Amino acid sequence: MAPPSSEHAPAYPGFSVKYTKLFINGEFVDAISSKTFETLDPRTGEALASVAEGDAADVEKAVAAARKAFEEGPWPRLSGYQRGRILFKFADLMEQNVDELAYLETLDNGKPLFFSKYADVASSVKCVRTVAGWADKISGQTFKMDGPYQGMSVYEPYGVTGAIIPWNFPILMFVLKVAPSLAAGNTTVVKPAEQTPLTALYLAALAKQAGVPDGALNVVPGFGPTAGAAIAGHMDINKVGFTGSTEVGRIIMEAAAKSNLKPVTLELGGKSPLVICEDADLDAAVDIANVALFFNMGQCCTAGSRIFVQESIYEAFVNKAVEKAKKRVVGDPFKAGVEQGPQVDETQFKKILEYIESGKAEGAKLLTGGNPVGNKGYFIEPTIFGDVKDDMKIAREEIFGPVMSVLKFKTLDELVKRANNSMYGLAAGVVTKDMDVANRLARSFRAGTVWINCYHVYDQSLPFGGYKMSGIGREHGLHSILAHMQLKAIITPLKDSPWL
Ligand code: NAD
Repeated sequence: MAPPSSEHAPAYPGFSVKYTKLFINGEFVDAISSKTFETLDPRTGEALASVAEGDAADVEKAVAAARKAFEEGPWPRLSGYQRGRILFKFADLMEQNVDELAYLETLDNGKPLFFSKYADVASSVKCVRTVAGWADKISGQTFKMDGPYQGMSVYEPYGVTGAIIPWNFPILMFVLKVAPSLAAGNTTVVKPAEQTPLTALYLAALAKQAGVPDGALNVVPGFGPTAGAAIAGHMDINKVGFTGSTEVGRIIMEAAAKSNLKPVTLELGGKSPLVICEDADLDAAVDIANVALFFNMGQCCTAGSRIFVQESIYEAFVNKAVEKAKKRVVGDPFKAGVEQGPQVDETQFKKILEYIESGKAEGAKLLTGGNPVGNKGYFIEPTIFGDVKDDMKIAREEIFGPVMSVLKFKTLDELVKRANNSMYGLAAGVVTKDMDVANRLARSFRAGTVWINCYHVYDQSLPFGGYKMSGIGREHGLHSILAHMQLKAIITPLKDSPWL
């Protein structure tokens, strides 16, 4: 039997790891198999906590609880207004517990505490509130049909939804799927990533405290091929939302198709171009590129991972970009001033170092970085490759690490073709003073989000999702709540109506 989790976790102003069991039907319970797995501290690779390991049997139990809560419980029967009030309370509780949530997020994921608190938790609170505000504003239409009939369209929840989420923004990904699903009146079963299960369990406890009824929200930590696959292929889950790799997105869609044809929302990978035009303010462009790639240790699906720089400013840009990257403070994410913590785990760490080797082998010019930092944990130097060519692996595949690839371009016509020459289409960016160029590129990019003279700026009301193999569907705000509802048509005869 593993020792209690709080004995593993390092102490931090009064916080410890409180929740490590599955959350099913409003209670924290052991896995049916009694199995546990260790979630690791990415700063050291050592165990932080032993977490109950859910598998297909636990998913079955969670789905049964969610189904009962949907068919017999109060949640779908509350008005949107009442559900919204509970979700507002959930957001308030997140805000009141921001320090503990941020602590757990940094502990499990390795991102700087400052970002956990002011980016991840803060934006997640906004997402919950925006969705809570929509809960009582979704309504259908009523109209006289062509003939003596009245037609109505009504929005209804799907029933039981499933969510499979990744490790790069664990809190945000949790609320982006759970809040709209609950706001719409569904009940849900969530599987957090095996690398970062701690905040999902903490959020489940807050949701219960806010008044989300037992069974309406269930959290089953576990691994993809067992717990995740059981959700994707479950006959009694009516819709599934997934964020992660394009490869696994395909598996989820196949499982959905082969089981009950449940609709899927997929938010997948990217290889997003950021274009720096020759008229750009060079310092601003360097800052934008730095944020675009290095934010969150490069572990962003929207990372600006192909930086196209116009020929005439290429050398100047690259010199300044290297200077800036060298100044990035890499270290313990709990320390003030640290901008870059470790990568999430050894698998990602090794994968990124392999990409760096492949960049060197294929002839890209390593301008800075390229090595691990320290001799424990998963830290990698901010790395920049110049002279990158479109067909190199580092220009085509998602690295998901602090590795910037800089490519040269001459004309906009050439650029548009090259920027769009990717199976992905999640995001794109352009830095220029010429708004005609900005508008032309914004409309030319085959991507779900385009940033002009900025990057990684998000809003809880703007649609978020991918073109091409970056995904299906849109998250955030109204888009996300509608994605968790289905439309029904009701037709009734109109008798003795003055309008006949
Ligand atoms: P992944 O896609 O394997 O994992 C994401 C989630 O899917 C996790 O909860 C995982 O347990 C689950 N999962 C894995 N296999 C599954 C299966 N067969 N059935 C159901 N669920 C399954 O991602 P990863 O292995 O953690 O990372 C690999 C790469 O994916 C990264 O290097 C990165 O390129 C990409 N990624 C993208 C995002 C994103 O936000 N788009 C997030 C994380 C990872």
